[in-house]
Amino acid sequence: MKYIGAHVSAAGGVFNAPKNAAAIGASAFALFTKNQKRWSAAPLTAAVVEQFKASCRQHNFAPQQILPHDGYLINLGHPEVEKLEKSRAAFCDEMERCQQLGLCYLNFHPGSHLKQLSEDDCLQRIAESVNIALQRSCGVTAVIENTAGQGSNLGYRFEHLARIIELVEDKSRVGVCLDTCHTFVSGYDLRTSAACAATFGEFDAVVGFRYLKGMHLNDSKVAFASRVDRHAPLGDGELGLDCFRYIMADPRFDDIPLILETTEPERWPKEIALLNQFAGQ
Ligand SMILES: [Zn+2]
Ligand SMILES: [Zn+2]
Repeated sequence: MKYIGAHVSAAGGVFNAPKNAAAIGASAFALFTKNQKRWSAAPLTAAVVEQFKASCRQHNFAPQQILPHDGYLINLGHPEVEKLEKSRAAFCDEMERCQQLGLCYLNFHPGSHLKQLSEDDCLQRIAESVNIALQRSCGVTAVIENTAGQGSNLGYRFEHLARIIELVEDKSRVGVCLDTCHTFVSGYDLRTSAACAATFGEFDAVVGFRYLKGMHLNDSKVAFASRVDRHAPLGDGELGLDCFRYIMADPRFDDIPLILETTEPERWPKEIALLNQFAGQ
């Protein structure tokens, strides 16, 4: 089964996200469990947690179909101790929110060295941050997203993901989310079925499909290997539709949340229907 959806709004409360996902025909969704542009948020109340769980039940979303995303301010590889500590505390809080909501994943961007650390020093710092967060939580898998490699963001090579996983103590609670736009602009071609076979073969060899816990399905406004992150609606960008046909027909992408973060939310119902058609479901 392919679980297909989008990163939907949780405005007004996290319990609105399942309803918003169901309204666009989704069988998966992503959400922020707090305002993604702020450091702190009011704790989740028991009533809100219950409302969220009830809404998930009502709309048939199991935890495996939901891929929460952490806030934008967090940098788990920050070179400065004070800011690193702030990021780690915020990330632990996000893990706790997911745990409270009964969710099993937290998707995050690895971090940035800000030109003050070597890539490997930064990857070690990120892995240590993940270890701390896993020690302080239970039941939630930390899902590392590959990045476009803009600025000093790490995670733009499969080797970066593999290095973090290598240093994480509890391998049962670390995973990976591949974003098709980020993969493409960071220099892994996905434009044809042959290119997809080669790129995902390389991913399997370097990281391993057993760690794949989710995908972000986005076309790219900008060119191959540009290392610039600009999402586009499916078929409107440099990637084209063959990439999405390939993924939908490949059982290695079964039973994980496949999430649109494309730029025109009014097109999500049609994009989801198209992906379901590609999947033959
Ligand atoms: Zn993404
Ligand atoms: Zn992106």
